[in-house]
Amino acid sequence: MKSIISFVIRYIPRKYLQLVSHFFLRVLAVFYKGKQVQCNVCDHQFRKFLPYGRKARENALCPNCLALERHRLMWLFLQKETPFFTKKLKVLHVAPELCFIERMKALPNLEYITGDIESPLASVKMDVHQIPFEDESFDVVFCNHVMEHVDDDIRACKEINRVLKKDGWGIIQSPVYDLPETIEDKTVTDPAEKERLFGQRDHVRKYGNDYAVRLSLSGLKVQENLFVKSLDLETIKKYALPDQEIIFYCEKG
Ligand SMILES: [Zn+2]
Repeated sequence: MKSIISFVIRYIPRKYLQLVSHFFLRVLAVFYKGKQVQCNVCDHQFRKFLPYGRKARENALCPNCLALERHRLMWLFLQKETPFFTKKLKVLHVAPELCFIERMKALPNLEYITGDIESPLASVKMDVHQIPFEDESFDVVFCNHVMEHVDDDIRACKEINRVLKKDGWGIIQSPVYDLPETIEDKTVTDPAEKERLFGQRDHVRKYGNDYAVRLSLSGLKVQENLFVKSLDLETIKKYALPDQEIIFYCEKG
């Protein structure tokens, strides 16, 4: 099971995977019946979550809504630390994650817009290097697991900063490794070499501990928020949260 999942994840982009895998996973969910873990995004309970990842992690993927550990953490962060579910907000969600789309769309307090360069899940076709909205259009921007794929991440962040309103904020997550500095080499085009250097066939850089500093070059104010450290072990276990994940909380600069 683990090796099938690793293979599929390696060669099929997640956004397409999400479209076809839903039915298959719902069937699998029957075998994961139980109450040991709970997905706080969709509120379903299971014996455990499905394994997920290139080197498959146990207890990661919700069979019902496809939320991963990081999605459950972000949802909880939004609930506990932000007015996302109550305040009237205009939201731009770049490269929207399937587990969030319908739930965010349904929130009556939000004007919710999704955008992506190629994902069939998004409502606006857009390039994050050139966001097709006026300055100061949005209260909130989410842009997760995008920056490691784009040509010019600083320019993309400048665009996010530009479209944020004066007191606007956002979350910009990417895979970050324990490296002193981000590794980037624009001359590398071979997918196998990209995988070796940057961790995945379609990544153009591998972020290190300078991620927040690097993103702030765009003008955004980027905070490293260790929200998960404020939670008790029982909560972390129940929702199977990533216990080291930093939330990169950004404000307009
Ligand atoms: Zn779920």
